[in-house]
Amino acid sequence: MTNLRVALIGAAGRMGQAIIALAKSEGVEVVARIDLGDQLTFADADVAIDFSHADAASSICEVAIKSKTPLVIGTTAHSAKQRDDIVAVSKQIPVVLASNFSVGVSTLFALTEHAAKILGDDFDLEIVEAHHRMKKDAPSGTAKALAEILQRARQTKVLRHGREGIVGERGKSEIGIHSVRGGDVAGDHTVIFAGQSERLELTHRASSRDTFARGAIRAARWLIGKSPGLYDMRDVLGLSDE
Ligand code: NAD
Repeated sequence: MTNLRVALIGAAGRMGQAIIALAKSEGVEVVARIDLGDQLTFADADVAIDFSHADAASSICEVAIKSKTPLVIGTTAHSAKQRDDIVAVSKQIPVVLASNFSVGVSTLFALTEHAAKILGDDFDLEIVEAHHRMKKDAPSGTAKALAEILQRARQTKVLRHGREGIVGERGKSEIGIHSVRGGDVAGDHTVIFAGQSERLELTHRASSRDTFARGAIRAARWLIGKSPGLYDMRDVLGLSDE
């Protein structure tokens, strides 16, 4: 395994530290550790990995274009404008953008799509996610990705973010999303399909951040030599043609 030279943005954060801890065993050399207040430069890197904050996205894109550095973006909660910047940069350099780098969650995405097709309109759909108390955005990027899968399957746009008070009966086409925050939960996601007399629940639990860190490194290695484009974990895992 050849050493992969990585510029790491958000290096002092939880995910940044998880990548640094795994670097040696994964054949990664972190050639630039970048956090708030540091100069953004990817000069000596084969690839840049971003686990920082959505507000950093536009500057990261500018710098990556200049040095033609492939980008792996794990940060979540981008605004529409920040997302447009990422799409624009991906026309010139290869970019992997993924709300969740775990192989198990990619499997959860596929199973959710499949279950929604099999179970049809008679099952009510709810998503519950849980994360540590320090997480800044809600719902999680993964919960949003699950909602998009269910919205496509049901052809509905109605999302219900939590419930409080006299909310009335549940609408048939709504998809509920609920965020739990506490302790050091690395990331749990459950999709509930609730029907008459039966309920199916698909759950993924991450027990540490290592799964996301390993997935991001795998994505970074996969990205080297790829054509410009916007890729996700399905591409990295070779699932996009299935
Ligand atoms: P964190 O708050 O622990 O770390 C973020 C780090 O980024 C901090 O050290 C902060 O100082 C730094 N930072 C903030 N703004 C910056 C900027 N403009 N430039 C450079 N550095 C900056 O957060 P975390 O738990 O490590 O998560 C980081 C991001 O990754 C979040 O958006 C989170 O939702 C996402 N995340 C994604 C996955 C995935 O698999 N895709 C997994 C876990 C977390």
